[in-house]
Amino acid sequence: MKSKSPSSHLSEELTEKKLQTKYIVQNLEATYGTPRNTNSYDPIDELILTILSQSTSDINSHRAFDSLKKRFVDWESVRRARPDSIAAVIKSGGLANTKSVVIKNVLTQIKALRGKLDLSFLRTAPIVEAREFLTSLKGIGPKTAACVLLFSCKRPVFPMDTHIFRITRRLGLVPEKCGDIQAHEIMERLVPPKKHYSFHINLIRHGRSICRPRNPQCQKCPLIEHCEFGQSLL
Ligand code: SF4
Repeated sequence: MKSKSPSSHLSEELTEKKLQTKYIVQNLEATYGTPRNTNSYDPIDELILTILSQSTSDINSHRAFDSLKKRFVDWESVRRARPDSIAAVIKSGGLANTKSVVIKNVLTQIKALRGKLDLSFLRTAPIVEAREFLTSLKGIGPKTAACVLLFSCKRPVFPMDTHIFRITRRLGLVPEKCGDIQAHEIMERLVPPKKHYSFHINLIRHGRSICRPRNPQCQKCPLIEHCEFGQSLL
């Protein structure tokens, strides 16, 4: 009998993983519902909000974002402000000194590259270009870029946060040793079209409630049938 070529083996594996992902998406929606993306932030707003959200809670980052919008009339005024003036306004979001510098630099780079503080082209640009533009900005990594593209621009990309890294590794979708960029690429290939937002939100819910960092509750997990880690415990 003729043995399978390496490429046909890889495509079979990809088909299997896609099917596994589809079932996982369905099971999570059956458990937590189907979240809809109702985000109405402009891409620059989303970018600044995502920078503010690093290493703090949603409540704190939104509070810092609202203070910034209240204190400055527009992003150009933030760009022109001194970092310590920005830091004083966003202190409720934590790491204010670092974030104020990143925000000012990012706004300055956007103005230099695009001629104005407007990122609406990200809504229609090819995804590769849109991602390249965002990650070319100093201080912006693949996760922040993916958040802007998914939440504000409604593009089919998949941000990986710490919960999602942990769960997708346990499920066996993402290899143990896998960098940020590669993990984003793998998940974007696997997640069914139009399910990026729902899957992202539901994995975070699952990571907070059942598949926690320590002592995951595998016995009551709706994903156990599709999970490598869970199956290894049976
Ligand atoms: S079976 Fe366990 S490890 Fe797998 S997703 Fe569920 S809680 Fe996490």
